[in-house]
Amino acid sequence: MAFVVQSACVKCKYGDCVEVCPVSCFFEGDDQVYINPDECIDCNACVPACPVEAIVSQEESTPEWINKNAHFAFSEEKRRTNKGEITHGPLWDAEKA
Ligand code: SF4
Repeated sequence: MAFVVQSACVKCKYGDCVEVCPVSCFFEGDDQVYINPDECIDCNACVPACPVEAIVSQEESTPEWINKNAHFAFSEEKRRTNKGEITHGPLWDAEKA
């Protein structure tokens, strides 16, 4: 049972989750990050770290978001994140203002 990044991450990508994940299973899309369900070890570290409460367990998520995370994590366009490495975040805050 993995954790899932949902819509609150869209255009945020603060990256706090990436920094605390012990197995670096976050992947970066153009407007949000995703979790690879095969690599997540269910440690729960990312949930309290996310400033916008975008991460939930699969049990609390929906098929749409579970599939979206899995689909992206296994796609060819994925970009693995490393500790503290987010290409564009906390980004669009300036544009939102
Ligand atoms: Fe990484 Fe743990 Fe969050 Fe899974 S629950 S994505 S292993 S920090």
